[in-house]
Amino acid sequence: MKKTSTRLADGRELIYYDLRDDTVRGVVDRRPLDRTVTTSEIRRDVLLGDSVAIASHRQGRTYHPPADECPLCPTRGERLSEIPDSSYDVVVFENRFPSLAGDSGRCEVVCFTSDHDASFADLTEEQARLVLDAWTDRTSELSHLPSVEQVFCFENRGEEIGVTLGHPHGQIYAYPFTTPRTALMLSSLAAHKEATGGENLFDAVLEKELAGERVVLEDEHWAAFVPYAAHWPYEVHLYPKRRVPDLLALDEAARTEFPQVYLELLRRFDRIFDRRDAGKEGARDGAEEGAGEPPTPYIAAWHQAPFGALEEFDGVTRDDFALHLELFTIRRTSGKLKFLAGSESGMSVFINDVPPERAAERLREVASS
Ligand SMILES: [Zn+2]
Repeated sequence: MKKTSTRLADGRELIYYDLRDDTVRGVVDRRPLDRTVTTSEIRRDVLLGDSVAIASHRQGRTYHPPADECPLCPTRGERLSEIPDSSYDVVVFENRFPSLAGDSGRCEVVCFTSDHDASFADLTEEQARLVLDAWTDRTSELSHLPSVEQVFCFENRGEEIGVTLGHPHGQIYAYPFTTPRTALMLSSLAAHKEATGGENLFDAVLEKELAGERVVLEDEHWAAFVPYAAHWPYEVHLYPKRRVPDLLALDEAARTEFPQVYLELLRRFDRIFDRRDAGKEGARDGAEEGAGEPPTPYIAAWHQAPFGALEEFDGVTRDDFALHLELFTIRRTSGKLKFLAGSESGMSVFINDVPPERAAERLREVASS
């Protein structure tokens, strides 16, 4: 992998990650951009104890541009995009409309491929490995910024998830605090360690799931399962079998195996909802949709140990945390989405219509043959 860091016309950082070590990246951003002005502000909710990023400048962001104006495609001729060069393998740059900026952290965009019409599942293993290496490098670099405590690499895929750009890409949020979900996991880890005299809760969960009926796939270095109390209709948790706190600590064997395992999971996600059935189901419901149902919308979220001090979580260290990826879709059946309605949005109590055992069975049925 070759890494080349440069600056866009408005001062934002852009980094090329190239498969070939002899790649030269010298093309300059020719756009007449003003320097970015970001006014992101973190406000703490004293009743809930969580934080909200207030980012009013995001209202002006690019929204569903036509494909020939895609800002994530490489620059072609006089059609100037966010990426000055005429091609790329993987590229990462600071978000022009960040939710977090300055003292409030940082937001980056990761373009997985220069092919506008591809999706992550279409990547080769070599390309997917390059994305993994880019995520790892960004985690390392961002963790060194003084304002950053936690690095979150994720992908939102599909308009139903609210994705405003069709080009295959993910994002990285670098937060100036430990996020509430991670804090909850750390609290559970601490309580379990205390109650059991030192047992690791992540290890206990993984061991139990791998002996049960919700395993989706298992390879030498990675295992994926639908969790016992899945929140979403189809939700898979992917763990390296050797517990590590973050992407930086993954060994070469796990890194080498990751692409085939992850690409297989994503391809299965695209097969959950048989598109031929979509028409029938639509007809039964008297709905119009069906035949042209878009591919499965999903969120893929990397959970990594925070880089800040963990003293509020009694007896827990970074090494107790288990890096894992949570992959889930908000679609519950063809043409129908799971909305976060009253119980979920009002009270944080999820109602899941798909039994996790059935979801796991379906995800095994659609394995690549
Ligand atoms: Zn594009």
